[in-house]
Amino acid sequence: MIGVGDMVLIEPLSEDTFIENLRKRFEHNEIYTYIGSVVISMNPYKSLPIYTAEKVEEYRNRNFYELSPHIYALADEAYRSLRDQDKDQCILITGESGAGKTEASKFVMSYVAAVCGKGQEVNKVKEQLLQSNPVLEAFGNAKTVRNDNSSRFGKYMDIEFDFKGDPLGGVISNYLLEKSRVVKQPRGERNFHIFYQLLSGASDDTLKKLKLDRDFSKYNYLSLDSATVNGLDDAACFRTVRNAMQIVGFMEDEVQSVLELVAAVLKLGNLEFKPESRCNGFDESRIKDKNDLKEMCELLGIEQSVLERAFSFRTVEAKMEKVSTTLNVAQAQTKSRKKVMGVLDIYGFEIFEDNSFEQFIINYCNEKLQQIFIELTLREEQEEYIREGIEWTNIEYFNNAIICDLIENNKNGILAMLDEECLRPGTVTDETFLDKLNTVCAEHQHFESRQSKNSKFLTDHSLPHNCFRIQHYAGKVLYRVEGFVDKNNDLLYRDLSQAMYKANHSLIKILFPEGNPAKVNLKRPLTAGFQFRASVGTLMKNLLTKNPNYIRCIKPNDKKAAHIFTDSLVCHQVRYLGLMENVRVRRAGYAFRQAYEPCLERYKMLCKQTWPHWKGPAREGVEVLLKNLQVPAEEFAYGRSKIFIRNPRTLFFLEEKRRQ
Ligand code: ATP
Ligand code: MG
Repeated sequence: MIGVGDMVLIEPLSEDTFIENLRKRFEHNEIYTYIGSVVISMNPYKSLPIYTAEKVEEYRNRNFYELSPHIYALADEAYRSLRDQDKDQCILITGESGAGKTEASKFVMSYVAAVCGKGQEVNKVKEQLLQSNPVLEAFGNAKTVRNDNSSRFGKYMDIEFDFKGDPLGGVISNYLLEKSRVVKQPRGERNFHIFYQLLSGASDDTLKKLKLDRDFSKYNYLSLDSATVNGLDDAACFRTVRNAMQIVGFMEDEVQSVLELVAAVLKLGNLEFKPESRCNGFDESRIKDKNDLKEMCELLGIEQSVLERAFSFRTVEAKMEKVSTTLNVAQAQTKSRKKVMGVLDIYGFEIFEDNSFEQFIINYCNEKLQQIFIELTLREEQEEYIREGIEWTNIEYFNNAIICDLIENNKNGILAMLDEECLRPGTVTDETFLDKLNTVCAEHQHFESRQSKNSKFLTDHSLPHNCFRIQHYAGKVLYRVEGFVDKNNDLLYRDLSQAMYKANHSLIKILFPEGNPAKVNLKRPLTAGFQFRASVGTLMKNLLTKNPNYIRCIKPNDKKAAHIFTDSLVCHQVRYLGLMENVRVRRAGYAFRQAYEPCLERYKMLCKQTWPHWKGPAREGVEVLLKNLQVPAEEFAYGRSKIFIRNPRTLFFLEEKRRQ
């Protein structure tokens, strides 16, 4: 074993020894390390021969600690408790952009697909589950500065199994797609993959039908400086995506509709408007060159005059229609008797120089996940001690519940105040929202204790103009309020949705149900923040009913490069993922535990009475063994099915003896 396979066994434990251990293992291509049952995964940025069919066989039906750490060990454990003990599972994958979350989720899925039932029907379901990934990635991933294949949405997938443990299907929920990317990409980044894939990979004939040109530079939405990505073959990906869409179950005409829509978006990007305002209650803008408009209308089956009018005028009186949402409410409950394994691949905590509404929402989501982590890890520890009949003492830890409260409190949480501001009649701006925050959160600090939520709303004179700062569990983050009100409102004017609804195009009609004149609804649509809070709430409830399995992903460097391990960067992630705290909690009671049978099996050679065979119950064998080796009695406790070892040194001592 290179370094220590389980961080719990590090001696002495400090941030330095922790990171040194990660580094040592990373340098030897040991990218997985445990903290008890949590898997830390370092992104190797190169393909390693550790995901072969042989590896799957090696890890199949083995005890978690028996082999060297691997994501397959976690997947195996989760799948077996689901199948044999009927416990629904969730796999929670966290880490910053580029740390390897999506890759990890795919390894888990392919492992489970490899070990669960076989047969024609089952194989078809498996294929569909696996092939959902290329489709989602084509439309939801993009090249960013941090990751050439960055997921720009959060994903939660419930994989459902029958009583035998054969897969039945899956339910996917998406969270907060970064839709602004369609229109504008930061320097050095790309739009969503599908645009480039389509132009590079479609046949001449298809492109002609879609009225598209192969040349990226013809489209305003496709940034030029970074249109191609090293090592990425867009044309080949297009074939993969087409094939995947078919396997997932799209009919040929549906694929066609989707591609028409993609083409129409490219055309839309080329429309140029000349603004003109009038004083009769209408804002007006005129389209300069009509050819793209004409082609767009042909693709979507919309009459040109209808769309032109909708683009050019905005009916000022008609505010606040219902908008279609990018936030699907998490499908929390599946029908009974199904066993479920949920896989969550969601954006990690983000601290940029400039943080906006998106980061605020993402970081809020991470606060909630940290809550789950705290609640479930500690609860799990506690429950295990009770189950095993071992005395339990409480452990001190930082509970981030007050930060969640600062953001989501119904009455005066930040999201509620933002909603209130968006609703208020009169002039509403990002600045008036900030004023409100400062009045409510900062003013109350004088009267409240340090444990109150507002203590996490940091006010000091160094705050730049138009910003507020929050002390997140993972660090302080400065948010710029610019755009908060607009992004939260997320309005689409009724003229546009009605024009779209008139399209003679099946897909567009489904996408703009609010454009149906029969359903005109002047009620205020739900804000983006409100919807996100609701869907995160549902997700959390769902996760709390399941047995959690954690994969904590770490990015070794900022260069997307193999072999480079940047201490400061890793250290930062270790801190905000709360990994040190995790080890401490795990060590505070009994650092190590193992079922009696495998424990006896491993160490029976150390004692004459247990070697080569012990006749009685395994528990008694372990007792004899430990007495014989003169391990002090306070060093361990006998649980119902497991031996608990307090100090990692005891385990080293046993391992050392084995080697002698
Ligand atoms: P984001 O939050 O931006 O979506 P992510 O955490 O999902 O990031 P991934 O897309 O999974 O990150 O990983 C980024 C890249 O790192 C992958 O495209 C791949 O090149 C590499 N990578 C990640 N994990 C592994 C692995 N286990 N083996 C080899 N390469 C990997
Ligand atoms: Mg990802």
